[in-house]
Amino acid sequence: MEYAQFSNGIKVSRIGLGTWAIGGWLWGGTNEQDAIAAVQKALDMGISLIDLAAVYGYGLSEEIIAKALDTRERRDKAILATKAGVVWNSGGQVWRDASAKSIRREIDDSLKRLKTDYVDIYQLHWPDPKVPIQEPAETFAALLKEGKIRAIGVSNFNVEQMKEWMHYAPLHSVQPPYNLFERESEEEVLPFAEKHNISVLAYGSLCRGLLTGKFNEKSEFPEGDIRQSMDPKFHKQNLKNYLAAVGQLKAMAEEKGRSVSQLAVRWVLDQPGVTTALWGARRPDQLLEAAGVSGWKLNRKDMERIERIIDGNIPSPLGTSFMAPPSEVPAG
Ligand code: NAP
Repeated sequence: MEYAQFSNGIKVSRIGLGTWAIGGWLWGGTNEQDAIAAVQKALDMGISLIDLAAVYGYGLSEEIIAKALDTRERRDKAILATKAGVVWNSGGQVWRDASAKSIRREIDDSLKRLKTDYVDIYQLHWPDPKVPIQEPAETFAALLKEGKIRAIGVSNFNVEQMKEWMHYAPLHSVQPPYNLFERESEEEVLPFAEKHNISVLAYGSLCRGLLTGKFNEKSEFPEGDIRQSMDPKFHKQNLKNYLAAVGQLKAMAEEKGRSVSQLAVRWVLDQPGVTTALWGARRPDQLLEAAGVSGWKLNRKDMERIERIIDGNIPSPLGTSFMAPPSEVPAG
């Protein structure tokens, strides 16, 4: 495993475990035993950073991670990076709430579910247009002083929002979507983060499994899986284009004795400014390939070839706006 220095000085693994699917919500359900085994496998492999959010599985991801971190040794090995600012009701509706009142409640709920007395990296999940940035920023700064959290991050923020946050609170990390197919953050967020020593946790490194090479045009997803209805990359003609690119990336990876997942995550790690690539997994076997991401790099010619593959197959790349939760409580 490769490691990097996080901007507050702690050592973090360059591959982090993503736990959204572990909660089951928007991923067609979960299997607790497999999920616990995946977390413990990650730690055994040297993956220390575990990315969570209160809303993943409506709290279930945090509860499962607490079960997996069943010894002091395991808890101490783990860098828990959870998030606040997206809340839910008993009907399963979710929306953004970055108010001080909500964050104060959320941190206490997360600490309880995680069975711990501190969160290593606490992130605001989404900016909330209803609440001025000053409010969550000052609340996060207070939580840092109180010792409930050890570092502050934001997610899905643009540069203007990050700049504003930095007027009121330290900013140790940003978490944008970033993978071979979703590259908007290259324009401003990554250069800004690099310039200001803000660590970057890149999410969706495998583009929700698309970049593992396991899908084809006939792939089907269970009801309630984000890829079934929400993510336009998995729809008809779009999917054809993306699969064509994956096929060529796979052939390139094989020439190098690697899998396409390894190539895709290596690519993320080799981009300027990226600290850690998040690898979403809900079973231990899904992490085995992560070991083969370390210890090599893509050279300039490889990078150029990858660009040609993407440009040649995906004339109009699709973004990630389908992931954004509503800012108000949904009607009904
Ligand atoms: P991802 O890492 O791009 O893809 C994860 C999915 O790929 C897995 O759930 C699994 O799908 C499949 N997969 C993983 N390893 C595999 C392997 N070896 N072979 C075959 N398939 C494999 O997607 P993600 O989970 O959305 O993103 C990673 C993490 O980033 C999340 O878990 C979360 O922590 C974070 N994230 C944050 C935000 C945010 O707003 N801040 C948004 C999205 C994600 P199946 O199990 O279905 O096969």
